[in-house]
Amino acid sequence: MEIRKIGIVGAGQMGNGIAHVMSVAGFEVLINDISKEAIDKGLASIQTNMARQVARNKISQSDMEKALSRITPKEKLTDLGATDLIIESATERETIKQSIFEDLVPHLLPHTILTSNTSSISITRLASGTDRPERFMGFHFMNPVPLMQLVELIRGIATNQETYDACFAVVEKLGKTAARSEDFPAFIVNRILMPMINEAVYTLYEGVGSVRSIDTCMKLGTNHPMGPLELADFIGLDTCLAIMNVLHDGLADTKYRPCPLLTKYVEAGWLGRKTGRGFYDYRCDVPQPTR
Ligand code: NAD
Repeated sequence: MEIRKIGIVGAGQMGNGIAHVMSVAGFEVLINDISKEAIDKGLASIQTNMARQVARNKISQSDMEKALSRITPKEKLTDLGATDLIIESATERETIKQSIFEDLVPHLLPHTILTSNTSSISITRLASGTDRPERFMGFHFMNPVPLMQLVELIRGIATNQETYDACFAVVEKLGKTAARSEDFPAFIVNRILMPMINEAVYTLYEGVGSVRSIDTCMKLGTNHPMGPLELADFIGLDTCLAIMNVLHDGLADTKYRPCPLLTKYVEAGWLGRKTGRGFYDYRCDVPQPTR
């Protein structure tokens, strides 16, 4: 089956990035968010990011205009039902995702494929609450979506080959690379990345190093383009904590226990770049460490 029309749920940093790349690749996009403000902010980010691509000669002005005209904001979630593919990219909380799929199901076309951009939650469990576990899978983009080459494709236990092939073809049309992961907590990228970020937070918590020294060590000592704390701020500390909890609960191993300092930052609402403060304070011209 060929995918032409895509519904995206959630217009946050990932949802708007997904809408951006899909529209540039020629797909028709409907985008929804529970917050009208988030939709407006998401559309504004898409404009800014596309304009940046025009300035760098990655796309032409006319490509940008055509791409923007292919994106339609929808305030009603159920308006996304009549699409070929839905990519759910709302907040990383299982109950939120379950209720989105529950509301969508009665409005879907028989062939609509349901996917989630979840970083960690069981695809099989999300699928089992819908009427189409065989047409359900994980479609996991990396942040920032327009720049990152990888898409992890995750098959739930019931996902059929036609669904996998259709999603694989979408990734190819985007010019990105798909890697297949089995459906275990946090899949491949976050199974490896998040324990490292969590360990960096423990290193800070135990006073082994400051924010700056930890990030400098990992950037200059291991050639990572960003330090782990800077990267955590970029991802969102709420998302990092949610993923650690999924690893901890799903694998029942204490080595995945989230660092209490990570929890404290989330409790403070210091979620990283998206709220202006995390391990760094972004409200100044040059980000300043908060510890
Ligand atoms: P975000 O906080 O930037 O955006 C989440 C959006 O979901 C918000 O705009 C919120 O209003 C919206 N939302 C919440 N409940 C909703 C509902 N019921 N219906 C519609 N919209 C709703 O978060 P994000 O970083 O964009 O993460 C979204 C998803 O992408 C999560 O599942 C996350 O794990 C995954 N993800 C994140 C990253 C990352 O680096 N941040 C990378 C890959 C995947």
